[in-house]
Amino acid sequence: MPISLSRLQAIVGDANVLDQSAVAQRATHHWDASPMQALALVRPANTEELSQVVKACHDANQRIVTHGGLTGLVDGNKTTNEELVVSLERMSSIESIDVAGRTMTVQAGCVLQRVHEAAKDQGLLYALDLGARGSCTIGGNISTNAGGISVLRYGMTREQILGLEVVLADGTVLDSMNALMKDNTGYDLKQLFIGSEGTLGIVTRAVLRLRADTSTKNTAMLAFDTFDQVCDTLAHMNATVGSLLTSFEIIWNQFYRLSTNANVGGSPRAPLPDHAYAYAIVESQGTQPEADMHTFEQAMASALGKDIITDAVIAQSEKEREDIWTIRENVDLFACHHPTFSYDISLPINVMDTYLSDVKAKLTKSWPNMVMYAYGHLADSNLHITIAPDTKQGDVKVDKQGTLSEQLTHEQQQWKSQCNEIMFKALQPVRGSISAEHGIGLEKKAYLHYSRSEAEINTMRLLKHTLDPKGILNAGKII
Ligand SMILES: Cc1cc2nc3c(=O)[nH]c(=O)nc-3n(C[C@H](O)[C@H](O)[C@H](O)COP(=O)(O)OP(=O)(O)OC[C@H]3O[C@@H](n4cnc5c(N)ncnc54)[C@H](O)[C@@H]3O)c2cc1C
Repeated sequence: MPISLSRLQAIVGDANVLDQSAVAQRATHHWDASPMQALALVRPANTEELSQVVKACHDANQRIVTHGGLTGLVDGNKTTNEELVVSLERMSSIESIDVAGRTMTVQAGCVLQRVHEAAKDQGLLYALDLGARGSCTIGGNISTNAGGISVLRYGMTREQILGLEVVLADGTVLDSMNALMKDNTGYDLKQLFIGSEGTLGIVTRAVLRLRADTSTKNTAMLAFDTFDQVCDTLAHMNATVGSLLTSFEIIWNQFYRLSTNANVGGSPRAPLPDHAYAYAIVESQGTQPEADMHTFEQAMASALGKDIITDAVIAQSEKEREDIWTIRENVDLFACHHPTFSYDISLPINVMDTYLSDVKAKLTKSWPNMVMYAYGHLADSNLHITIAPDTKQGDVKVDKQGTLSEQLTHEQQQWKSQCNEIMFKALQPVRGSISAEHGIGLEKKAYLHYSRSEAEINTMRLLKHTLDPKGILNAGKII
């Protein structure tokens, strides 16, 4: 028996329980415009209400899926008509900022960009940053252990979290809201919930670690003729710019051309000609305007002198910096193809190029007109790859611009499985990961064994069974 909506209304009020038809007015998620399916959607105002909702669901064996900003990319947020959505949209406050201690306490539904702005207002920085910053939530970031564009310097979400409050599957509130850099008092329980995609508990509040604000940003777009040049330049930048180096993002030619193609909504101002083998966005951040710029420009000049860069442009204003980053973040443009299959993989940098040519050769055998877009966080060994199997080479379908629906025909589903096998199997010999940042959700569940051993998967099952014996939290996701 599904939980009665009146039971939920008694906890959060009538206005905060949306029934099936109201839920269907919402889109499934960021990439899928089809109507959301769910038994109902409930919007608690605080931890106490959320705990009561979960306890009621536990008593009724009601399955729950937690929703943040719905920008997750592996269907971890997907629901069926039998599942209840718990949305954190009303739990979005910034509770406090401790400037001396460099911490911020927030509710989990707070949008990442608001955290950035609030930290900046105090002369501080919240170091996690990613393209979905205007919609994704802190709870979603924590649950997916999100990475983004500053991992090279600051680490993933795991590194930004000092304390956590979580509601467990039976409604218990687990308060681990420490704001301490050092705390070795037994198991670090919060780590269990970071990256567990809502399967072990619902994150309700967090203490975030803040850093010194980096008022100076030096950004360049570089062009390369070979992948060896890219690797040499990464090593060169690490050696010359050192700890100020915050991002080193790679964009292979095919994505650069799409992203600067104004006919499909791409950036009209390409900073460099579009015939290089690959491009990189390199950014340093610091606090000493003149000295930082000097270090950055010297590093560029010596790289050009060593012939490890073919061409380069350094942003001269914040607007030019944004224009450069837009080229990396124009991922919505993939919607000009249908279908597309996206990958988020990790593998050693020195085998990336061979991996790409290897899988490309295999994919082209099945889909001769296939287009592969590759880009990503090179310095973190993390590539994002989007494959459009059914496209004439170099010919984007302008008429399909903006199509976000992910509905695949039966035949396209088979293509996707075939494509997944090729992409994931090739990672095994190099001990790569089938998911660097986005998680497993439903999308990659069948392929987890390519990255995790049987003993590891069994231990994950043990944890899940211990913390959620009834299997009500994000059931069927990950394992
Ligand atoms: C344009 C774009 C760029 C992106 N760039 C990056 C990137 O660079 N790096 C990266 O890592 N990701 C990236 N992502 C993916 C996505 O933004 C992240 O996974 C993000 O952390 C998800 O946050 P969300 O609030 O949207 O979560 P949702 O999509 O709502 O949920 C994601 C998962 O977390 C669970 N969840 C959500 N909130 C909670 C909670 N409070 N407690 C427990 N479980 C919860 C959900 O059930 C689901 O399993 C990008 C996405 C887009 C659309």
